[in-house]
Amino acid sequence: MVAELTEAQLLSVWESGSGQGPRDRALLLARTAAGDAETAAGDGVADLTLAGLHALLLGFRERAFGSSLPCAADCPACGEPLEVAVETAELRPPAPAAVPGARPAPPTGSFRAGGRDVTYRALTLRDLLAVAGGGRDSRRALLQRCVVGTSPEAGPLPGRVLEEVARRLPGVDPGAETTVALECPGCGHTWSAELDVAGHLWAEIEGYARRLLYEVHALARAYGWTEQDVLAVSPARRRFYLEAAG
Ligand SMILES: [Zn+2]
Repeated sequence: MVAELTEAQLLSVWESGSGQGPRDRALLLARTAAGDAETAAGDGVADLTLAGLHALLLGFRERAFGSSLPCAADCPACGEPLEVAVETAELRPPAPAAVPGARPAPPTGSFRAGGRDVTYRALTLRDLLAVAGGGRDSRRALLQRCVVGTSPEAGPLPGRVLEEVARRLPGVDPGAETTVALECPGCGHTWSAELDVAGHLWAEIEGYARRLLYEVHALARAYGWTEQDVLAVSPARRRFYLEAAG
């Protein structure tokens, strides 16, 4: 692959992430995409907004595997399986990507409800990591984290105000939601499907790691090489040796 990630590093990323949940994997991938300098500087990537996170991961994905993402979905109308290639540019947030090391604060917005001014900010990866689970309570907790101030001050906000925050969040962080427009060639049905950028990238890393380990296994068995020996050989030469070994 991969201009900036060796196969040995890819295997190590896969190994670290394989026992983790999707949100921790997103953090692992973001740290990997941002490079070592970012890791040494702390956990700045966790404070990216979701659009910033997507921009970082999409940029990394382009450099590692190219700009065309293969996606599979079933048509919700007729059930026909559909395979499409989505360009990373279609998913890229409209705002410029945050530059690692010079990260701006998450964008904010405000509105008036129930006699109060409510100020909220975009969701970050750190919010998702802090609020585990996916139930109603965690949704409330997540939305409450986005509220950075009320005037006059108030405790926990009622559900309808939090829902208003939820409704407005995409407006302050365009690119937080990554959806793909799909059309079924069988029945003509059109719909939009959400594409989980971190999950998609993880699946590709996992697929690559598994193929690579299989090659290590086959070449180690055929030639008595170590894992290190195999990884030192280029993918093109590995293919040759694999064919030669039958
Ligand atoms: Zn269909």
